[in-house]
Amino acid sequence: MATWRCVKQCGACCHLDPTERPGLETYLTPEELDQYLSMVGEDGWCVNFDHATRECRIYAHRPRFCRVEADTFHQMYGIEPEELNDFAIDCCRDHIADLYGDRSLEMLRFDREVGIYSNRHGC
Ligand code: SF4
Ligand code: SF4
Repeated sequence: MATWRCVKQCGACCHLDPTERPGLETYLTPEELDQYLSMVGEDGWCVNFDHATRECRIYAHRPRFCRVEADTFHQMYGIEPEELNDFAIDCCRDHIADLYGDRSLEMLRFDREVGIYSNRHGC
């Protein structure tokens, strides 16, 4: 079974362009929506995203909506803890496909690291 994890050197979910995130106001509080919008740079990327390292500059203090945690996903999306793994994998794959492409190096690396490649090929 594939097991979700955040794969290093990805950052696909840190491209915050609100035109590509319909329904933000349905799962963010008004204060979080303001915070979210304040983080969007001119290029659509989060201003806290370090493009050189592809890492978050404020990782320890990143907002709630950046955290893949059971409580957060239940509050924001109504996802039960037992559904979190598959939901998070689908979210990441959607973000990676949108940003880098579904045959990108980032997608290959994600699939390999969470175990999707192994499952598909039975090894
Ligand atoms: S899309 Fe997923 S793997 Fe990529 S940075 Fe975000 S949480 Fe990590
Ligand atoms: S605060 Fe960090 S984790 Fe959240 S979108 Fe920005 S760079 Fe990504």
